[in-house]
Amino acid sequence: MSNEASYLFYQSRNPRPFLDRGEGIYLFDENGKRYIDGSSGAMVSNIGHSNPRVLAKIKAQMDRATFGYRLHFRTHPSEDLAAKTVSLMPAGLDRVFFVSGGSEAVESAVKLARQYALTQGQPQRYKVISRFPSYHGCTFGALDLTGYDPLREPFAPMLAGMPKVPAPATYLDRDNLTEEARGLKYAELLRDQIVQEGPENVLAFVMEPVGGASTGALVAPDSYYGRVREICDEFGVLLIYDEVMTGAGRTGKFLAAEHWGITPDIVAMSKGFGAGYAPLGAIVAGKRLVEPVLDAGGFQHGFTYAGNPLACAAGLAVLEEMEEQGLVENAARMGKVLMAELESLMERYPFIGDVRGKGLLTAFEFVSDRNTMAPLPVGLDAHTRLVELAYARGLIIYSRRTRGGTSGDHFLVAPPLIITEPQIRDMMAILRDAIEAFAQEAGL
Ligand code: PLP
Repeated sequence: MSNEASYLFYQSRNPRPFLDRGEGIYLFDENGKRYIDGSSGAMVSNIGHSNPRVLAKIKAQMDRATFGYRLHFRTHPSEDLAAKTVSLMPAGLDRVFFVSGGSEAVESAVKLARQYALTQGQPQRYKVISRFPSYHGCTFGALDLTGYDPLREPFAPMLAGMPKVPAPATYLDRDNLTEEARGLKYAELLRDQIVQEGPENVLAFVMEPVGGASTGALVAPDSYYGRVREICDEFGVLLIYDEVMTGAGRTGKFLAAEHWGITPDIVAMSKGFGAGYAPLGAIVAGKRLVEPVLDAGGFQHGFTYAGNPLACAAGLAVLEEMEEQGLVENAARMGKVLMAELESLMERYPFIGDVRGKGLLTAFEFVSDRNTMAPLPVGLDAHTRLVELAYARGLIIYSRRTRGGTSGDHFLVAPPLIITEPQIRDMMAILRDAIEAFAQEAGL
């Protein structure tokens, strides 16, 4: 079918070839061309494509029942997946609510926080502070928390207009502070914002522990995380970790929060949680939050497909596969190999201004000047051009150009967590070749 004959519309007309099949870290188009899935789709396919054991478990569930409405039946897949999820969480996060995607998870986290505040006699707590840049989803509520103008401007004004604080993009700072002091400085900006809003009005702070597409795998200095937790506790503000991208092992721990020993009040997950085998997400919170809501008549929220047995069977199979293959540990190990490769790219190309990330959520950023971190000229269109050059060579990576807060074109490299060291070397050889071609084209 030609592109002209397509009835679909997405962000733009879709010039891509038809997908035929997936296998491990690879995708194949209908012409038989092979692609390394260097971004796991959109940081989704954590266990790789078409895992036969997972497919068999999904098929077994399909043969029994594909749908049973959660208010009509309990199902073993949803109960078992909830139990498994809790077993992988930090202590204290022991109640699970399923959804079908990341935006739904973020919406659900905020609504749970709101209903909890109501049970505490604090209905005036409604403000949710988030960061700029950030990405929390594209439904109106999640979009209002998102700090990324190109996605917000077409729909402004937002429903509520929630306050934002700067994301800790310390790699752009040119002060004389230590990294520790910088982390604390950004945390204090949150404190200032809470005070300015009136702490009695502030419900929650939402953050991606490691940034995703909008910041390019931004990691804050270690000092930031603990101080943010303290500040939230000081004012009774709930701390929501949006682990939609980072959760389910992507950063080398099951939750990114574990890197800093943080227990958030609510965690939102999706992407790698269903790993592309089913549209699936979850919020996880503690009894402390959930029991008062249940006592008050229950969480007044829920999507039709939430907790359906087919998606939950897929999610359970994914988590079992992750455990059996030790994929969280592999993400940590391979993340080091990948980061070393990215660092050597940075040594080679002066227009790579920064490499960063955690585990297998990594990024590199193009600049015109490493000292000032000024971005490359917009006209070079680096963020689309390099992706095209890599795609032509059989490698998929993910890119964005962000205005404000981060400096420009950045590229996420986030392969499936099953990737091996030789496969990382293959992937990086293609990437190097694409960057070389870009450098020549752009005259860099
Ligand atoms: N939150 C984060 C951190 C994300 O990266 C994303 C998606 O990229 C979302 C929320 C929204 O997820 P979805 O696209 O599944 O609605």
